[in-house]
Amino acid sequence: ELYNKVLELKGNIRVFCRCRPLNSEETAAGSVMAVDFESVRDGELTVISNGAPKKTFKFDAVFGPQADQVDVFQDTVPFANSVLDGYNVCIFAYGQTGTGKTFTMEGTKEARGVNFRTLEELFHIIKEREKLYRYDISVSVLEVYNEQIRDLLAAGSQPGAVSKRLVNMVSQRWLEVRQAGEGMHHVPGLVEAHVNNISEVWEVLQTGSNARAVGSTNANDHSSRSHCMHCVMVRGENLLNGECTKSKLWLVDLAGSERVAKTEVQGERLKETQNINRSLSALGDVISALATKSPHIPFRNSKLTHLLQDSLGGDSKTLMFVQISPNENDLSETLCSLNFASRVR
Ligand code: ADP
Ligand code: MG
Repeated sequence: ELYNKVLELKGNIRVFCRCRPLNSEETAAGSVMAVDFESVRDGELTVISNGAPKKTFKFDAVFGPQADQVDVFQDTVPFANSVLDGYNVCIFAYGQTGTGKTFTMEGTKEARGVNFRTLEELFHIIKEREKLYRYDISVSVLEVYNEQIRDLLAAGSQPGAVSKRLVNMVSQRWLEVRQAGEGMHHVPGLVEAHVNNISEVWEVLQTGSNARAVGSTNANDHSSRSHCMHCVMVRGENLLNGECTKSKLWLVDLAGSERVAKTEVQGERLKETQNINRSLSALGDVISALATKSPHIPFRNSKLTHLLQDSLGGDSKTLMFVQISPNENDLSETLCSLNFASRVR
């Protein structure tokens, strides 16, 4: 009975915390680690301020600076299984710019992240199940910037759009979220790239990633102020009884959560900041409303939550990576992120 209670309280939301290592500049500057993973239990971390423990946080999993992409993905695998079982899943990375959101989700060619590994796992499981099920997988990549949606696979939005053979729809550049009759949220005209194997997945992910930088004078700046979202649509058919399933996996690299002093920004930059704050707090509101089983879930307050609507709540499964910096100089942002993550848990 106690076990059921715990499960119910935890719901379908899991929070993993990942802390990047100190980088070479920080080490050279003699920076101090402000996070301790050693003197706490598994799944916990302690924030250190001025040499003294300040606050301990507990999450479903905690990955310290030594954890690699494989360690992190091992705990993410169950979510891949859930997608093929017909559940909607949403995995996202939250945190200050420079804490490793993109490293965790996208990774590098040598150290691939959750996006690629999850899709790779989907294809493994599909192979294992091929006598019983047939699956169709398609991927869309979009960006939400200033409350506007941009299709990153659409022809014309980047040099070398995704190969024609993978694309089954034409798209306009800026899009609106609409609600279809059946209650599935979708973006009309969004390019869906049908992928048959993992090398096609890599091609699509690269295309989306390259397109993100286009049209901005400073690519890093732009990517830290927009949400990068991958939507994987899975259609499955049970070959024995003909039953069909349809599910969605969202993989989201959120805009940086750092607070920007209002006095420091003006014009376009102020609007950007307000939109980021609005969408991140809307996400926090939605997840905490779901966690406390509130009767009203405020999905409509931002494009981000509106898009994710059918992959948050209900019987869908959510995984949030809260990314943090170990640097003492980042302590106040680190505490903000950890508190945000505790609120949604
Ligand atoms: P964000 O997307 O949150 O702004 P990035 O993913 O771009 O942060 O990470 C910032 C830098 O730190 C990058 O150079 C990245 O490769 C490096 N980095 C982040 N996390 C790790 C990690 N766990 N191990 C090694 N390097 C990391
Ligand atoms: Mg990034």
